[in-house]
Amino acid sequence: MNSTDPTDAIDALLSAHGLRRTAAARRVLGWLLAHPETSYTHAQLQTALNGDGALALDRVTLYRLIDRLTQVSLLLCRVDASRVRRYQAMPAGVHAMPHFECQTCHRDSPLAGALQASGHDLDRAVQSALAALQALGYQGLSMDFAVRGVCADCSAGPVPAPGLQASA
Ligand SMILES: [Zn+2]
Repeated sequence: MNSTDPTDAIDALLSAHGLRRTAAARRVLGWLLAHPETSYTHAQLQTALNGDGALALDRVTLYRLIDRLTQVSLLLCRVDASRVRRYQAMPAGVHAMPHFECQTCHRDSPLAGALQASGHDLDRAVQSALAALQALGYQGLSMDFAVRGVCADCSAGPVPAPGLQASA
């Protein structure tokens, strides 16, 4: 079997995280891995998957799958400024994508750009910590690295009422 077949890679990921290799799981994870730069709401993902010509996935199956994939950190879940959950494939080789949760505008943004070289150091530190745990027999590891506070936009401008967006 060709080891570069994307289905093999997806099956390997599913198995490694204790998930069943169902057609639906392959399709959802496969789609998100094929669109790594895009984050989707539940509804957007359902529309995208049902537009690709294959059999329609029912909503309950899709929601359960997304939950399971997120629990095992194959997907990143972020809440946008409208408090809607958005899902994105976890970038390959990244075990803890640092992100910032603003307590004022509730935006959740990646920190890789802001951290620059420190972000790389963090990722290395996380990988060595996870490797140490793996050596002790821990499995299916992932780490969530969230920094919480007030973002630069909010701290510079007038403080909006909680729950409102910072800017139009
Ligand atoms: Zn903010």
